[in-house]
Amino acid sequence: MQVTIPFDNTYARLPAAFYTRIDPTPVRAPGLVAYNEDLGRLLGLPDAGETDRARVFSGVRVPEGAAPLAQLYAGHQFGNYNPQLGDGRAVLLGEVVGTDGLRRDIQLKGSGPTPYSRMGDGRAWLGPVLREYVVSEAMHALGVPTTRALAATLTGEDVVRETVLPGAVLARVAASHLRVGTFQIFAYRGQKDALRELTQYAIARHWPDADGPMGLLRAVCAAQAGLIARWMSLGFIHGVMNTDNCTISGETIDYGPCAFMDDFHEDTVFSSIDQHGRYAWSNQPGIIVWNMAQFATSLLQQMDDPGTGVEEATEIVHAMPDQIDAERTRLFGAKIGLADAGPEDAPLISRLLALMQTQSADFTNTFDALARGDARDQFVDRAAFDAWSTDWQARIASEKEPQAIMQAASPRIIPRNHRIEEMITAAVADDYAPFDRLMHALRDPFGTDDTDLMRPPTTAQRVPATFCGT
Ligand code: AMP
Ligand code: MG
Repeated sequence: MQVTIPFDNTYARLPAAFYTRIDPTPVRAPGLVAYNEDLGRLLGLPDAGETDRARVFSGVRVPEGAAPLAQLYAGHQFGNYNPQLGDGRAVLLGEVVGTDGLRRDIQLKGSGPTPYSRMGDGRAWLGPVLREYVVSEAMHALGVPTTRALAATLTGEDVVRETVLPGAVLARVAASHLRVGTFQIFAYRGQKDALRELTQYAIARHWPDADGPMGLLRAVCAAQAGLIARWMSLGFIHGVMNTDNCTISGETIDYGPCAFMDDFHEDTVFSSIDQHGRYAWSNQPGIIVWNMAQFATSLLQQMDDPGTGVEEATEIVHAMPDQIDAERTRLFGAKIGLADAGPEDAPLISRLLALMQTQSADFTNTFDALARGDARDQFVDRAAFDAWSTDWQARIASEKEPQAIMQAASPRIIPRNHRIEEMITAAVADDYAPFDRLMHALRDPFGTDDTDLMRPPTTAQRVPATFCGT
């Protein structure tokens, strides 16, 4: 049987300077380990058997209508410009327009070497593939703009990292894979025409109401400001906010060493390669502004007169910290029951966070407990909590439905790091029960009652660092 995918590819029609056409490298023994039925239906994909799905989403069989290509991009990695990155282990199969009318990319990640692989093998192993599968789908269920996971397949081939590991491919779905780095590469090379064409493409595809390059900048800055505020309100730390991992669509992308924190501390960092905490929880707003400044700089390179737009771009980027602050206050305000928190509420929020930090209170559980009226138990120093709580009660007295607001703003469950590690260990031993259980609970993060998955790690279970593990 054939898997017929209704591709309609626009990126492949752009000039050859934007990508290299290349097929995925076939793998030895494709095996389907997960398929996202809901997403498949949304994309208008047909029913198909496991074998066919495994072959298509591992890259063994390129479906009709696909135009596989590796995208070219550059990017700042930890603040240093790398003049050429690109899809080194991924190919864009093509685009489909879903039943909701939205256009999305289907990309295979771990699909073999490309001209942009540099020293890499073009492959991925099962651990990071399942991590991205679980965390991206959890983020989607939490209402955060994100790329999604369509399928995970085993390749039947070994991948050599520190040890020999099972190879896997993730079929990923995104509004597009355009990144800040996609603009940077043409800006740094002085390819004005390519930059202009890319700008037009991005506007048409993502922000049709945007007026020119500065309109695009404004739209992306607003989307990214909102996104980072959402991350923070969930205790999410992306871990590698390099400009090549920063989308034009405003979706979260590239789940590598990302993690949700357990006990709250604003300096929390998990990524083993982030030695100076550049991408720590509390640094994320500053970093997104920095990334958007790079985006602005690149966009400006297409102007005929180099002075044009500088003032406007500066104003747009400089407005971001206040936008992020306002959105964060609104989101955290909802987590303490406020329908529309404003700057005057910021001190009440920061006092609670300070209390949580000094007492190592669990981020998710504390807000969940607040929503359920038993937060006191989350604190060792109950008197300190009571003092805050008195002021809090006074403030929410004027709110109509504080409890409902809180319950809608704070999930009961997030994919905790130790559960992800446990899930990966089991999957490598061919036990997918923990994966299924996590996926089941995370589908309904605000309503689940899987108390076991809500529990923070014990000291022995704690995962102190996460790895790119590419
Ligand atoms: P990431 O940290 O996953 O966002 O990747 C950064 C860059 O490294 C991208 O250009 C990737 O395509 C490339 N890359 C990561 N892992 C591999 C690999 N195993 N083989 C080839 N390229 C890779
Ligand atoms: Mg990346």
